[in-house]
Amino acid sequence: MKNIKKYLAIIIFLSIAGCSPVQEVNIYTSRHYDVDDILYAEFTKKTGIQVNVISGSGGALMERLKSEGKNSPGDVFFTVDAGNLANFQKGGFLQPITSQKIKDLVPEELRGVNDEWVAIAKRARVIFYNPESITQDEIDGITYEELSDEKWRGRVVIRSSSNMYNQSLVSSLISNLGEERTEQWAKGLVKNMARSPQGNDRSQLMAVANGVADLAIANTYYVGIMLSGKGGDEQQKAAEKLKVAFPNQNDRGAHVNISGGGILKYSPNKDNAEKFLEFLLSVEAQSHIVNNSFEYPVIETVQPHPIIDNLGEFKMDNTSVSDFGKYNPIAVKLMDRAGWK
Ligand code: FE
Repeated sequence: MKNIKKYLAIIIFLSIAGCSPVQEVNIYTSRHYDVDDILYAEFTKKTGIQVNVISGSGGALMERLKSEGKNSPGDVFFTVDAGNLANFQKGGFLQPITSQKIKDLVPEELRGVNDEWVAIAKRARVIFYNPESITQDEIDGITYEELSDEKWRGRVVIRSSSNMYNQSLVSSLISNLGEERTEQWAKGLVKNMARSPQGNDRSQLMAVANGVADLAIANTYYVGIMLSGKGGDEQQKAAEKLKVAFPNQNDRGAHVNISGGGILKYSPNKDNAEKFLEFLLSVEAQSHIVNNSFEYPVIETVQPHPIIDNLGEFKMDNTSVSDFGKYNPIAVKLMDRAGWK
């Protein structure tokens, strides 16, 4: 009799489990990293929650969310750059994250206003230079501010002002120096460009390796990808010629931006969405992220990939990443006035 009861209980449990809808989370993403697919699979394995991915550019996802309105199946928005996250927030597409676990793991300066988005990984936007054409004396103690000095005339490459990474860098300068000083700075920087902005971060690094310019501003993970050989032989050899300089080490530190996520406003699976973000901040997921995307971890118990670790320790700017969104419209206009193509 006891056994029959037990079997009945199991049968009832199984039929309830069978009838309940599939647990799922719908992720809208404009990230384009292979590592993300591994993360989604790992999350499903751990939690049984199925991950559905809708990818597209930030603009395309915004249009989609607008047309879906309250009926949107979207749960999580996952992207790169605080500027993009802030744009989604300004559009009213996100809601506050309530998980205390997430707030405990992610420092306040790495979260959006109202905790509507949080960092999942960090990247620094720093200087990479050719040690054959720059002296130690020139590079020691370098700051972003200094890059507008006449001594760098015709020696700098950086991508266009339409790029969000640059808009966020300029926003961080506005936050620290004010609009007027930042505009003067941008004008000086434009004068110092070795060529009119073209290509992505990797093109800037290649340009320095090939002698087109003496220094480039680029995100750290690009050098990681290049040095790892994942970008091919030519990129690896080019990256090996470069050295890194972390700006502003004697004051606020080097500019840091993030990859991050938020919960979409009409999320039908909010619990699963929070679980997913919590998972991304676990030791396991953070290790996956840093070892495949070459970003810096958000949690302190995980080490960066050895190639990134090798760039050296440095002081990171603690300017709140929410400021990048706050000053973005001013930054865009300022860069245009400065003639930054
Ligand atoms: Fe990138």
